[in-house]
Amino acid sequence: MLIIGSHVGYKKDSGLLGSVKEALSYKANTFMFYTGAPQNTIRSSIDLDNVAKAYKLMEDNNISKDDIIVHAPYIINLANIDEDKFNFSCRFLSEELKRVDTFGFKYLVLHPGSHVGNGVDVGINSIVKALNKVLENDNTNVQILLETMAGKGSEIGRNFNELKSIIDGVKYKDRLGICLDTCHLNDAGYDLTKFDDVLDEFDNIIGLDKIKCIHINDSKNIINSHKDRHENIGKGTIGLETLIKIINNKKLENIPKILETPYIDGIAPYKEEIELIRENSNLH
Ligand code: FE
Ligand code: FE
Ligand code: ZN
Repeated sequence: MLIIGSHVGYKKDSGLLGSVKEALSYKANTFMFYTGAPQNTIRSSIDLDNVAKAYKLMEDNNISKDDIIVHAPYIINLANIDEDKFNFSCRFLSEELKRVDTFGFKYLVLHPGSHVGNGVDVGINSIVKALNKVLENDNTNVQILLETMAGKGSEIGRNFNELKSIIDGVKYKDRLGICLDTCHLNDAGYDLTKFDDVLDEFDNIIGLDKIKCIHINDSKNIINSHKDRHENIGKGTIGLETLIKIINNKKLENIPKILETPYIDGIAPYKEEIELIRENSNLH
């Protein structure tokens, strides 16, 4: 089945119900949201009445709660060894896991972190230490999906080996998964025109069973640019044909696919892009 949706808003007043309505307006059958602004940690309490209404609307429209993705805010940086920043990131991640659990969802996408000049090894050690600390004290069952990154600045997670090193160091491996991002993979240097080879490499290093979400984005930049600027579907350097092949890949069939493409003149492009993908995909 094609499970496709986009990033949607989450507002204090309309809550999860508002997010579901937005997803339905794009004819999506899944969605991803931030529990507040992606750049800050201000979070409102969750209105369970609103959540119940959202679930009813999801059920009526055949949206499974198991396909919904939450994205952690960018300011969590588990790779920063500065004590205050490290502790802040751990605390916020713990709270975020509880929020995802309160909503009843399974997956939280997380950018592994940036080493801010201390080097990849120091950064990876810090991420491992943080994840062990957070997961040791966590009693939810939410999975943290480490996202493949473009390698902008000092970002960690720009290749499969870095992600594998993180997983290797974490005691609670069943609590970790991976979110592929097509724009990030391209910008990190993976040739998506040879996607079967990329998947084989992933399978050899990490294992395909770890992939739980895919961000479908075109890229404004060429392969290996380490930039991370998303482009609308079919308008970037990856192109519609390659993105459709990824979407159609049988090995990834039942994995939620989420668009994070830019707004065009202030308007969300997701309804049109989802329609374009459905027209071109051979999954239904
Ligand atoms: Fe992301
Ligand atoms: Fe992404
Ligand atoms: Zn990105």
